[in-house]
This record gives sequence, C-alpha cells and structure tokens, in this order.
Amino acid sequence: ALAEARTAYHAVTHVVPPRPANDILRVARELDQAIDRDELILHYQPKVHVRRQEITSAEALIRWRHPTRGLVMPGDFIAIAEECQLIDRMTLWTIRRAIADQRDLAARGHDLRLFINIAGQLLADTAFVREACELVGGSDAKLGFEITETSVIRDPASAIANLQVFADFGITIAIDDYGAGLSSLAYLKQLPARELKIDKLFVTQLTSSNRDPLIVRSTIDLAHALEMEVVAEGVETHAALALLTVMGCDMVQGFLISRPVVLDSLVQYLDEGRHRAPAPDPLAAFGG
Ligand code: C2E
Ligand code: MG
Ligand code: MG
Ligand code: MG
Repeated sequence: ALAEARTAYHAVTHVVPPRPANDILRVARELDQAIDRDELILHYQPKVHVRRQEITSAEALIRWRHPTRGLVMPGDFIAIAEECQLIDRMTLWTIRRAIADQRDLAARGHDLRLFINIAGQLLADTAFVREACELVGGSDAKLGFEITETSVIRDPASAIANLQVFADFGITIAIDDYGAGLSSLAYLKQLPARELKIDKLFVTQLTSSNRDPLIVRSTIDLAHALEMEVVAEGVETHAALALLTVMGCDMVQGFLISRPVVLDSLVQYLDEGRHRAPAPDPLAAFGG
C-alpha cells in the first residue's frame, strides 16, 4: 500500500524519486525528532501586488536544517512526512511558527498575510482540522492556506466543508499549482478560495512559448470571472513580469522579486522597499 501511495503521489507531483523502504524509515525517524529539536525553519517568499506595487503577503516554505546533510528542501521530505503520518504534527508546528512570525512582522511595521502550504490529506483529518482551528481561533494573526485541487479530489465533500471552516476563521484560501495537477472546474466552482496560483510550469517559459501565454491569459480571465485574484508563481524575468502585467495578473511571485528568505531578511527587504526595483539581472535577486 505504501509503494502504491508513493507511485500515485509521484505521478501527480513529480517531487521525489522512489527511495528504498529502509531509507524512508530512517528519514521518517529523523524527521520525527527534527520537529521537537527545532531543526525545521520557515523561509518566506513575498508576493507582489502588481497594480499597487505593494507586498501584502508572503508564502512560508519549510526547510530542514539537518545536522549532517545541511539544508534539506521540502521535495526531499514532505512526501515522506505524508506517508509516515508526520505531516499533521509538522503542519501544526508550521502554523504555530507562522502565527508567531506574523505577529512579529506586524510589530515591525509589516502586517503581511502569511500563507502556509497544507497537504491534501490533512483536509480529511478531523483531528488536524480541530487542532488547527484551535490554533488559528486563539490568535488574530493574518494567515492563508495554500491547497491544491488534487487534494480536494480524494474526499471533496469533507475537504470543501473544512476549507469553509478555515475561511470562516478569516483564513484566506489559495489554490496552489493550478493547471499542473488534476484540475476540475466542478471543484473550482465550489471551493471557498479567494486566490488562484498559476503553476510555474506555465510561467517560467512564458515569453518563449506559443501556448503558455494563451493558457495563462485564459486562466486569469477564468479566475477573475469567479471573483478570485490571480498569482503567477515562478516569475524569473522582466519579460514575464511585463507580459503578466499586460494580461491583468494581480500578483507575482518568483526569483525575479525575491527568493524564499529567512524572516529577518524578509524584514530587511520590506524595510528597503526593494520590490519596487526588482533586480535587472534575476541572479542579483538571489542575494537574500
Ligand atoms: P509550492 O507551494 O508550489 O512552492 C513553490 C516552489 O517554487 C518553492 O519550492 C519555491 O522555492 C519555488 N520557486 C519560487 N519562485 C521560483 C521561481 O521563480 N522559479 C522556480 N523555478 N522556482 C521558484 P520549495 O520551497 O522547494 O517547495 C516545493 C514544494 O514543497 C512547495 O511547492 C510545496 O508544495 C511544498 N512545501 C513547501 N513547504 C511546505 C510546508 O510547510 N508544508 C507542506 N505540506 N508542503 C510544503
Ligand atoms: Mg505553495
Ligand atoms: Mg505552487
Ligand atoms: Mg508545487
């Protein structure tokens, strides 16, 4: 069953190549301890509102400061956390951290909404939903959850109901990686989502492909018709930014604007208003 789940997951996400089972168990055991040992860290990547030239939100992206392997990226451990039932505890840790960071940012003059990635299986996990609600209900931090449509397909009724519960707590729901997974207009219509994030698959080659601009433009129009704001992820060049602006894309996120960075670097970036002058050379934006 484990192997089957992995194959299905990889077919959809293309994130991690298959690993031997003993390898998975070793990583799972280490990850279990990492949550308590403060080895996990959130990096934040801002989203820039194109028309307002403002940063109103940022996305939390988890990393693991492994004692011997260095900084481990989520593509190397999220799938294992999902398989080995660690994802609920890890995500509750993430929510707690993001709440504290949001209050900290606001106190430093930057009241951004912080978005957290929520794995699909958690939308059907009643214990997780209850605990997450306790955390967000006991705080006035501005948060958002990023979920993929693929995650809704497993159990649409309970996923949609739980997303509505989160939305009622003031959490902004964003649909992540739109167009890359199993997209269904039937679910899109029912989800209480206010933001739609176009997958970077359609954005990184926007100005060198014939079809990507057509797909992106029609997705922007669809989202606007459904009264959602559109975020383009994977914006790496000025040419892509210019085209997205013309197409009416509401927000952009990508290496051109900023890489995901630690909280203090985000504050510095915001203090300096650096997003108003994105680096002409995208490599220069890697500085954070
Ligand atoms: P995602 O949520 O779609 O995040 C976007 C990914 O694209 C991030 O990779 C980000 O660093 C990368 N990215 C940002 N700008 C650019 C760009 O201009 N060009 C390119 N080529 N890439 C860009 P990262 O941080 O490695 O995260 C990968 C995935 O891992 C995320 O995809 C998300 O699905 C998952 N993930 C990250 N943090 C968490 C978490 O706390 N919980 C859960 N459940 N999943 C997480
Ligand atoms: Mg995301
Ligand atoms: Mg995404
Ligand atoms: Mg992704």
